Amino acid sequence: MTSTSEGELPVARCVLPGCGNAAEEQGLPCGECAAAFGAHLRQTDGPPMTAEVQAKRDSETHATYAVLLAGGNPAAVPAAGGSAAAPSTTVGQPERKANQRCWMCEQRRTCTRQAHGWECDRCLEIR
Ligand SMILES: [Zn+2]
Ligand SMILES: [Zn+2]
Repeated sequence: MTSTSEGELPVARCVLPGCGNAAEEQGLPCGECAAAFGAHLRQTDGPPMTAEVQAKRDSETHATYAVLLAGGNPAAVPAAGGSAAAPSTTVGQPERKANQRCWMCEQRRTCTRQAHGWECDRCLEIR
């Protein structure tokens, strides 16, 4: 939550990412953008974006732009705001499962999926 000092109205900003113009109303595009996009812009069914959501969305958008400009992969940009739910942390990791029978030592252990079958940590280390 951003706290505004007393007597100071929060300034509505154009809803379009990358546009810093003042808007008549929070959640709406500025006059310039409205004129530029005309019929392409329309109010979504949901409630208008709050200033907070808009700021977060913009910071994410800008982070993605920065990576794109640097020739990087935007998918690698960590989500701004540090969302607790990050479901893609295991992407690229080999699958691990407890109580699998290792194909080398034939023991039931926590194994990692390898090309030829499950392999326990011990055998992985030996190789
Ligand atoms: Zn605008
Ligand atoms: Zn093993």
